[in-house]
Amino acid sequence: MYIDSHCHLDFDVFDDQRDALMLRCAEHDVSGFLVPATTYSSWSKLALLVNKYPQWRAAYGLHPYFLAGATMDQIELLGDQCEAQGVVAVGEIGLDCWPNAVDMTLQLAYFSRQLSVASALQLPVVLHARKSYDLVMKCLKEAKFKHGGVVHAFNGSAEQAKRFIDFGFVLGIGGTITYPRAQKAHRVLAALNDLDFVLETDSPDMPLNGYQGRLNTPLSIPLIAQSVATIRSENVERIAAQTCDNLLRVFPKWNEGVL
Ligand SMILES: [Zn+2]
Repeated sequence: MYIDSHCHLDFDVFDDQRDALMLRCAEHDVSGFLVPATTYSSWSKLALLVNKYPQWRAAYGLHPYFLAGATMDQIELLGDQCEAQGVVAVGEIGLDCWPNAVDMTLQLAYFSRQLSVASALQLPVVLHARKSYDLVMKCLKEAKFKHGGVVHAFNGSAEQAKRFIDFGFVLGIGGTITYPRAQKAHRVLAALNDLDFVLETDSPDMPLNGYQGRLNTPLSIPLIAQSVATIRSENVERIAAQTCDNLLRVFPKWNEGVL
């Protein structure tokens, strides 16, 4: 069995193929999906879909790259939203230092408020950290955040990996490691302990090597697992089992209230 620890299956692009995709995923043993919210306006649709698909879990939050329309009032509502069915985390939250990202002062304010919500609810977080690992770590320390989570699409150094792992996080490993040119990521992944990473696709984004320009789906997870197995010289069944265990450890509410 495989779990996709980060996929945006609520996005409209999946509307006309979601049911068929879920069937195909089941045929390929991809049987669990963590779907993190992006904007406030996405929360209600995600809640409906999590009720419809028992193999989905949700994280609610305000994504740092899409804060343009956000208001602090929405964070007041985040706690209530996290009482909804299937919630395992707050996310995706974090800091995005891409050149055209939202003003950093605003991002920092939203990030720290959402970390407070996660702390109050004793929930882990799904972290989005683009070119911002050290700043995100500084914020986690300042917030004295204790509930861990996943660093989504990790592509930092071995030192940055160690800091997050020591702070209770696992690293999200996705399609970038299928590219032969990702040598640094391969070296970091090869040196990780078995306990310290999970698999993700970031669907519909981040296509695998050889699939550029195509819609990415959780069906890529077995291919990512195969790449991980090759890079680490382990067998793929072990990677599948260990990464599922890791995910369930980091998101302890995963199996609560399952039908
Ligand atoms: Zn995402």
